[in-house]
Amino acid sequence: MRSFVRTIQFSALVLLSAGCGSEYYSAADFQKVEKIDTHTHLNSLDTSLVEQARQDNFLLLTINVDVPGYATVDEQKKYALHQIEKFPDDVKFLTAFTLQNWSSDNWQSETIEQLRLAFREGALGIKLWKNIGMVYKDSAGQFIMIDDPKFDPVIDFIIKENKTVMAHIGEPKNCWLPLEKMTVNNDRNYFKNHPEYHMYLHPEYPSYDEIISARDRFVEKHPDMRFVGAHLGSLEWDVDELAKRLDRFPNMAVDVAARVPHLQFQSQTNRDKVRDFLIKYKDRIIYATDEGISTDSDPAQAKTELHDHWLRDWKYFATDEMMTAGEVNGEFQGLKLPREVIDKIYHDNAVTWFEIPSENGR
Ligand SMILES: [Zn+2]
Repeated sequence: MRSFVRTIQFSALVLLSAGCGSEYYSAADFQKVEKIDTHTHLNSLDTSLVEQARQDNFLLLTINVDVPGYATVDEQKKYALHQIEKFPDDVKFLTAFTLQNWSSDNWQSETIEQLRLAFREGALGIKLWKNIGMVYKDSAGQFIMIDDPKFDPVIDFIIKENKTVMAHIGEPKNCWLPLEKMTVNNDRNYFKNHPEYHMYLHPEYPSYDEIISARDRFVEKHPDMRFVGAHLGSLEWDVDELAKRLDRFPNMAVDVAARVPHLQFQSQTNRDKVRDFLIKYKDRIIYATDEGISTDSDPAQAKTELHDHWLRDWKYFATDEMMTAGEVNGEFQGLKLPREVIDKIYHDNAVTWFEIPSENGR
């Protein structure tokens, strides 16, 4: 399906339909443009979301992650491999490891062996989660931070294998604010439902700055690591802050998963600033949603949510229409990014930063 011939046909079709030489895409170009969503969680044998992705011309990365209450990392890998077996051209995956055995002397060697196997099975990299810095403690009762030297041999192995490290470290800055001070409604709802992660209620936990500083030191000490900061690198609240990190760390890119409302919120006060940021850092921003499906999801509903999410984001990035969204109070205007920028954010950067094999990169 992703054959070279098909790519040529597609490109020709896109050129014709988008108006040859046109500098911008329209809302109607959504289906025609080849896109990648690098942050989904397909934790089910149900393939509805991949079918939706095929209809909407998306390749999906499904991300395994060490979350309490989720399927285990091993079970998640089985779901990912099942989806890939059914749709090898349309799905890729990232693996994860757990810190449950952290205090064991064998944690590093066991983790490396587990990663070696997952890489052999096709994993393009690994996902680190916010439980590092916010949940896991060492035997002395201290929070385990991501710049802990015990991670180094594992990270060195990942670099040697030419795989990508995706990291959701920390939380939106809103997490350290009371509910009524939060900037976007999706954060307000999430932390209302997850008081265990609402750090405003837990002043004894590491602060936002401590967690972000540990992450920055981690990126700095592994300059050869291909690093993708999930969720705008937890610097979603200010594109200037994010720009500082991208300037400082050439090995860092970020995905926009579940944080587009934060860009929309900033657009309300300074649309040009957000737009200029995305244009300047067009090689470092990766499109993603954080949508998913689990064994207790309603597949039809999950499909609709994913499709609607994709359409809404496309309208925001590709057009200059006035919009509203449930996550943001008030109106904002779409960014109408140049076509070259859309192509990078929606496709080319994912291929580069996750080394998606060319037969899938399309
Ligand atoms: Zn996620």
